Amino acid sequence: MRYSKLLIPTTKETPNDATLASHIYLIRGGFIQSVGGSGLYNFLPLGKKILDKVRAVVKEELDKAGCQEVSLSFVTPASLWQESGRLDKYGKELLRFKDRKNNDFILGPTHEEMMVNLVRQTVKSYKQLPLNVYQINLKFRDEIRPRFGLMRGREFLMKDAYSFHASTEDMQREFALMEETYKKIFLRLGLEFRVVEADSGAIGGSGSKEFMILADSGEDTIVVCDSCEYGANIEAAISKPKSYDANTEIKIITMKALYDDGESKIVHFAVPASIELQEVKACNAVNANDLVACDESATMTTLIVDSALKGLETLEADEKSYADISSVCEGDSCVHCEGTLRYTKGIEAGHIFQLGTQYSEPLACNFLDENGKSKPMVMGTYGIGVSRLLAGIIEQNHDDKGCIWTKESAPFELDIIVANAKDEAQSLLGENLYAKLHTVRHLDVLLDDRTKERFGPKMKDFELLGIPYALVIGKGLSEGKIELIHRKDMSKVEFTFDPETIGQFKYFDALAADIYKYIREN
Ligand code: ATP
Ligand code: MG
Repeated sequence: MRYSKLLIPTTKETPNDATLASHIYLIRGGFIQSVGGSGLYNFLPLGKKILDKVRAVVKEELDKAGCQEVSLSFVTPASLWQESGRLDKYGKELLRFKDRKNNDFILGPTHEEMMVNLVRQTVKSYKQLPLNVYQINLKFRDEIRPRFGLMRGREFLMKDAYSFHASTEDMQREFALMEETYKKIFLRLGLEFRVVEADSGAIGGSGSKEFMILADSGEDTIVVCDSCEYGANIEAAISKPKSYDANTEIKIITMKALYDDGESKIVHFAVPASIELQEVKACNAVNANDLVACDESATMTTLIVDSALKGLETLEADEKSYADISSVCEGDSCVHCEGTLRYTKGIEAGHIFQLGTQYSEPLACNFLDENGKSKPMVMGTYGIGVSRLLAGIIEQNHDDKGCIWTKESAPFELDIIVANAKDEAQSLLGENLYAKLHTVRHLDVLLDDRTKERFGPKMKDFELLGIPYALVIGKGLSEGKIELIHRKDMSKVEFTFDPETIGQFKYFDALAADIYKYIREN
């Protein structure tokens, strides 16, 4: 494609609300455009191209694993969410509206109900199972604080897959297959990541894993072991139990637990004074939707004591129970290998979840087994934040000049920069190499043929856009030299030729072959 014809509105200006590199460079590189500044974005041509490339990688690997793509209606009847019981639970992230006939609708923040509805109408027998269906479609969540560009938008692109099985064992087999498939996707995209154990909410169990892109800017704290594979979101992390004695100081934290039905109650949590209360664990321990700070000095009716203190305290309350509610600290010992645990930061880019029959039961998504007995299907659910991946790739791959896209995500493979497009020899070589590499050899090439821009701004745009290579056709041409620049480290490789041969058809062929070989082999 020709730069002169493309809509690539690069800018030197950093958006006011942007602090993360990915947010800054995606806007400055003209990949995306903010709409009204509240978590809504337009994708411009290069952003759309990258999104499609990333989406293609996700789709290819899922299809290879036997998943089938569908596309669900984006507007969801609220009645389906009433059936599952989520309509009242979901809170303000759910956008609700009415049509002209006064029917209630929502915009899907996730599509369990919709997919269960599709399957319950079409699958009746164990012979049709297992089934893994997915879509790569928009989601809408009215996030309380949309921020960081594509990282936390209100409207975003998600790959959401749902699998249906006749047994828990078969669902677990698929869960393991999805974990392997996700690893392939993240590796192909050139990401450094870690699979960690995640909080499964009130459902509990060990059936949930998150795929974390390692980056200092990540919003999640993850606990990793320095000598084994153990990794967990801090919300779910455990360490080797510490031993305390009867003199251990104890602190009591008072919080208000909020429930689905609008009810709330005051709960007291007791942990060793040296340890932080882990709020997600605490919330699960009382089966609440959320916990909020509370200064009321109510009497202790409900008390949860950290299991590490069992037998070491004499606290009294009407309802007293024990649970792991403490936060893992850096330096704690690993439960698996006694190695040392430390914190690192991650961006949650994927989440796989063993659901069981949580949705199939209320929505009556049943099948007939071998004996003709009706049973609810056992489900798994698997998400990838496709648009968030673009931000994650840039968080891991950028420098102070701009983006450095990875091979499978780059908007182009090569940027041919004609330093002075008014110079006839430079322009001729640029055009011919473009024809040979792009049209003949199908390399994805951008030809910077702009006549109004000087060489400096063209280089700056190359650096900002983060295309893996630039071929600079400049002053060296008269001496038979052109340069190939690696965006990653800005290192250069020279291609030389006899300047007398410029303009000879055969010569372009040989030079194009050399460049093509170099790019494909590096
Ligand atoms: P987070 O904790 O970051 O809000 P989540 O737990 O709500 O994420 P899921 O419901 O598991 O996310 O959604 C699946 C995937 O969708 C996430 O792993 C993430 O990559 C992506 N995602 C979630 N919320 C957003 C958002 N607001 N903007 C962009 N991507 C998102
Ligand atoms: Mg969320």
